[in-house]
Amino acid sequence: MAEEKKRPLRKEFKSGKVLKKLMADHFYELDEAAKSGSKKIAWCTSVGPAELLRGMGFLVYYPENHGAMLGATRMATELIPYANAIGYSPDICSYLTSDIGSFLQKRTPLTKAYNIESVPKPDVLVFNTNQCRDVQDWFSWYSRELNVPVIGIHTHRDIGPIREYQIKDIAKQIEDLIPALEKVSGEKFDMDRFKEAVALSRRTSELWRACLEAAAAVPSPWTFFDATIHMGPAVVARGTQEGVDYYELLLAELKERIDSGVGAVDGEKFRLYWEGMPIWGKLRALSEQFASLKACVVASTYCNSWIFDQFDPEEPFESMAVAYTELFIVRDEPFKEQYIRDCHDLFRFDGIIFHDAKTCPNNSNNRYGMPERLSRNLGIPVLTINGDLNDLRCYSEEQAKTNIEAFIEQLEES
Ligand code: SF4
Repeated sequence: MAEEKKRPLRKEFKSGKVLKKLMADHFYELDEAAKSGSKKIAWCTSVGPAELLRGMGFLVYYPENHGAMLGATRMATELIPYANAIGYSPDICSYLTSDIGSFLQKRTPLTKAYNIESVPKPDVLVFNTNQCRDVQDWFSWYSRELNVPVIGIHTHRDIGPIREYQIKDIAKQIEDLIPALEKVSGEKFDMDRFKEAVALSRRTSELWRACLEAAAAVPSPWTFFDATIHMGPAVVARGTQEGVDYYELLLAELKERIDSGVGAVDGEKFRLYWEGMPIWGKLRALSEQFASLKACVVASTYCNSWIFDQFDPEEPFESMAVAYTELFIVRDEPFKEQYIRDCHDLFRFDGIIFHDAKTCPNNSNNRYGMPERLSRNLGIPVLTINGDLNDLRCYSEEQAKTNIEAFIEQLEES
């Protein structure tokens, strides 16, 4: 009888327990505040002005984080059509459509995970268009539906070198949010509290960067798939002490792995870079496939997008403007290419996977010749996988599997 092939296991982190508790506490605190009215709640886009909101005493909820949960639990695919039915196209952001579908159907993954009935009702909705226009449309829907104010920042996009006038503009836009936020919170803006949130966010970011750069070690102590899970606090807890404490713990564990030569993928043979959004509903399957092929996805643009070590509490508005404008997603093609080339210098990967996410052109960088240019310049192969972050109807698992196998064979031969 043929020996049954063992599935490669993802090596769990000891800090995983702390992570689970941190994420659970985040949602319990929001749920309690929404029910009791003890604290005001701001919804914020994932790279929106969270530090200002924290510094003004708001609890902050991130709908994109909820979108990722809808994707990871595979609830998204069946909820998207409900948003389509009210006029939101299947071609636009599937975080938006699955989240609105979830709201319309009164179904949320928070119920199974934390026994929480619904997402916390906002007192104010705050966006930054630095990542895309969809976030503004998304929040505007909730604003109409729940009769809640929506305010935001409009960022310059497709930027090469950043100009002073752009930073001044964004810094002023952040500052200009204060009167509207004071009206909602009923509290006066306190500069010291704001600076404290900026300082904590910076520390969180520095630690998050150190964690991600730990993957430069050979073998790498963790993979992109691990990082997509452990990035939760970098999104929802930046600007808090809990976020700082968590990444100190995780970093220590990663260093421990490096010191004892423990790799995330046993017998690591190939190192890869992931460009684009995760395919949330297929993280485990992809992680197992790469591990079985001895390939470790060591770095990604996506996880790097929550590094904001430009924050400076002495210049909170300006430094926030810099951090939220220097982001990869805001930049032009030459900047993005150079960024990935710098990552190649650090992480020494053998190939790049581009994920062409059907509903997120903003985070799909394969569409204007970048894979070909990088392949030529770096002398490494690239592969494009067609899929989506949340809408699994856009993803052919069989085809992706075959393409990944062929790609690794190509690496074997080179
Ligand atoms: S960047 Fe992409 S995934 Fe994120 S909110 Fe915008 S369209 Fe959606």
